This record gives sequence, structure tokens and C-alpha cells, in this order.
Amino acid sequence: MKNVEQFHGLRVLVLGLAKSGSAAAQLLHSLGAIVTVNDASPDEGNEEVAILRSKGIQVICGGHPIGILDKGFDVVVKNPGIPYSNRVVVEALAKEISVWTEIELTSRISEAPIIAITGSNGKTTTTTLLYHMLNIGEQQPLIAGNIGTVSCSVAEKAKEEQVIVLEASSFQLMGTETFRPHIAVWTNLYDAHLDYHGSSEAYAFAKSAITTNQTQEDYVIYNADQPGLLPYVMDSLAVKIPFSLLGRREQGISADDEQIYWNGEPYVKRSIIKLPGQHNLENILAATAAAILSGCDKTAIENVLSSFTGVRHRMQFVKELHGRKFYNDSKATNTLATKSALAAFHAPMILLAGGLDRGQSFEDLRPYMETVKAVVALGETAGRFAVFAASCGIKEIIHAENVKDAVQKSYPLTEVGDIILLSPACASWDQYESFEVRGDEFIEAVMQLQ
Ligand code: ADP
Repeated sequence: MKNVEQFHGLRVLVLGLAKSGSAAAQLLHSLGAIVTVNDASPDEGNEEVAILRSKGIQVICGGHPIGILDKGFDVVVKNPGIPYSNRVVVEALAKEISVWTEIELTSRISEAPIIAITGSNGKTTTTTLLYHMLNIGEQQPLIAGNIGTVSCSVAEKAKEEQVIVLEASSFQLMGTETFRPHIAVWTNLYDAHLDYHGSSEAYAFAKSAITTNQTQEDYVIYNADQPGLLPYVMDSLAVKIPFSLLGRREQGISADDEQIYWNGEPYVKRSIIKLPGQHNLENILAATAAAILSGCDKTAIENVLSSFTGVRHRMQFVKELHGRKFYNDSKATNTLATKSALAAFHAPMILLAGGLDRGQSFEDLRPYMETVKAVVALGETAGRFAVFAASCGIKEIIHAENVKDAVQKSYPLTEVGDIILLSPACASWDQYESFEVRGDEFIEAVMQLQ
């Protein structure tokens, strides 16, 4: 850990007691900060609260008491999910108290350089690909952030010779002041989380914090095929590394139908790549560029490209049975993600889709439904999805109770060479606790098919 003196005696209010709040509170306390934790939910039966109190950290639960900031704080560390409309956050900003998320702490204490990955889609896939490349390339990577491990806890133990591969959301990036990744990766920019950020511009601006503190010694790898993203990257001082799927480019990383090019020179043949989909090619270009810039050797990169078949629940190849291939894309909780999945395959498909009804339209999928020969509709939107599929000219449409039932009903509709794809285009919460639970049921049902 570096720069730890700065936290000594710092008066910090940690807002929100999820995994990251608890980790940040304990870290700051151990560094000599005077920490108070505040969470809106009651403390009864909350083990985290008991642990924090046993360490001498003050915890206030069950609401945000009026005047909580009157105690005098230097910094508020907020859980990324807490909106900026939260009363305490509004008041803190009005009092000119810094509001951070825990990735700011990560950046302040990490001895290891940080590679941060953001984007509307593809963060987890790119982060995972890069982690594997660096790992095989013996670069001692540590994976952190949105992907599951609290980044400040990872940074606490990280050594100078290691590298932190950090998946960073717009929510996390918004709470940064000095956060400075050595390599920033920005996969793409689509409208998302407008309820939180208020507008597309505010969302893009929040993401652009990934480059704000970078210098000429750093790099930003970005999607050059998206004109909307460019204004947010161009002001960065970092060395710009564009990636593009639109053919060979002299600068950065690019691809045509045959090859991936690094600064205009052929680098690897696309035929070795296992991960399906144009969208995944974006993720591959971004991860490969970051691996090259990190000094990773080509053999390690090729090794990953020729073996990686997808992150769990993201167009994950599950099994081939009697010439039919099963893919689990349970993470596709909106039409944008399902669109990418449909575009990735050219074989006839049986699509398993439907889930939580938010009144969303499925129209965006229409141009991609040509390869779909049958639909198994499930969840709250089953009826609406079936109507949509029929309007696309799909003859075979059946309803299923749940994912297991959908898998069982899908198999008799298939022929050799078909793909059975779970890509619901809807969130899972109408029937499942999470998209992971939904995807796990799919995998289990596929494994049970004879
Ligand atoms: P994130 O972590 O940003 O949510 P993931 O890697 O988990 O992204 O992928 C989520 C879904 O988004 C996948 O199911 C896939 O269909 C879609 N997706 C992944 N990468 C891209 C991309 N580069 N462009 C568009 N869609 C993508």
C-alpha cells in the first residue's frame, strides 16, 4: 500500500453498507481514519454491523438522521448504487465535502498499476479476457471491481510488480477525484442507466472520468467505430489507441474478415478465435491491445483467443448434443444484448426468450430474427414476445413455464446443425433471483438432456 498517511485522522462517512462499504470502512479504520458508517436498512441480524462495531467503528442504521453531516466529515465514501439525489449526498456536495466511491481509495493506495475497463456492454467479457491473457503471460494480474471482488481490498494487498484489472461502472467512476488508470479501456457507449444519470450526456461524462487524470505516460483504448464516444476521449492526455472492426488501420488495433492488425501489421488470424460474435470481437480487440501494451507475449494472447469460449451466462457455450449446440446468454437482460447474440450466429436458431415485463419493446430485434426458426417464450413477457415473434413470420412459437421447461420443449424442435440459445432480452426477476440463477437452471437442464 502507498500514501497511507493521507488517511490518518481523516473524518469519513461511509454511506451504504454493502460489501464495498464494509470493506472501505474497515480499510480506512485500519489506516487511522475516524470512520462512521450509515445505512438506511435496520441493523438487526446484520453480521457486518456487528463486525464493524466490534472493531470500534460507529455504525448508524435504519435511516439517514437529519444533521448526520453536522458531526463534521472530510469525505463521504458512498456505495455506487446510492443515487446523487440521496439527501445526505446532496447535502455533502452542498457543503463541498468530497464524495468518493471505493475505486478512488483503490487508486490512492494501490502500489500496482491499474488497467480499468468501462463501457456500456462488454466490461466483464473484456476484463476476463484480459485477466486470462495477463495470467498466462505471467504478469501476476489481480481481478477487481464490478466483476465481484471489492477493489480497495484487492489494492490493499497488491504489490508493485502486479497489475489490477478493474471493471469500472459509470456509477463507480462518478465518485473519483484522482483515479488514474495506467491503461483505460472504453468498450462502447450506448444509452443506459438514464434513471441514475439523468441524461445520455451525463452518463457519458461520468464514464469519461476514466481518462480525466491520465497523463502522456498512460494509454486509452477506445472504440473508434462509435463517433458518439470520441468527444469524451479526445481531450485525454493519454496516448490514444483506437480499435476498429471496419478494416485494417495504420494506428491502434483493427480487424478485417481475416486478420487482427496491430498498428497496421497482421497480428493474429481471426480463424483461431473461439468466442463467437462481432460484439465479442470488439472485446477481443480491446483486451488484446491492453495485453500488448502491458508487455504480455503473443503466445499467451493466442492461447486465450484459441481457448476462451465465453464468460458464464454471456453467450457461454454449454454443450453440443447430437449436432445441436446450446448457448447460455442469460445475462442478456435487454434487446441490445440479445441483438448481439442473434447477430453472432448464422445457423438456424431456437430462441428461448422472455422475462420481467417492463413494458419494453422488442422491435429492435426484428432485423435479427431471420435466422430464428422457432421461439420458446417464457416469463411475464411470454405473451408479448410470442406476438412479436409471430409478426416476424416465425411459425413455431411455444410457451414454457420456466427455463427448464423451455429447454425440454426446445429439443424436439431442433435438427442437426441448429443452435439453441437462451437470450431472454428481459431481466430475470419475474421468476428468478438473478440472471445467474436463471442461467444455471439452463445449464443444468441442458446437461440433463439425453
Ligand atoms: P457488462 O459487464 O458490460 O454488462 P458483459 O461482458 O457481461 O458486459 O456482457 C453482457 C451482455 O452484453 C452479453 O450477454 C452480450 O450479449 C452483450 N455484449 C457483450 N459485449 C458487447 C459489446 N462489445 N457490444 C455490444 N454488446 C455486447
